[in-house]
Amino acid sequence: MISIPLHWLVFVCLFVCLAGIFFVWVGYEGIRRSRAKHAVRNRLRCEVCCMEFEDRSASPLAKCPRCGSLNERTSPRTF
Ligand SMILES: [Zn+2]
Repeated sequence: MISIPLHWLVFVCLFVCLAGIFFVWVGYEGIRRSRAKHAVRNRLRCEVCCMEFEDRSASPLAKCPRCGSLNERTSPRTF
């Protein structure tokens, strides 16, 4: 039989629980960021008229439907 002091047992249980919560949190955060990035991948904002529009083409420059200016694709910012 293994004998360990009570305070050591409490510390180990607390550490295991907090480590589990931490890894679940990191996993969900990764999934959330991936979904958010995927959702706004084709979303653009015109530099001239500030209109937000969606462009699913593969061209590097997207044409604004309102003013017709060409906009560069930038990587989406996720918070
Ligand atoms: Zn525009």
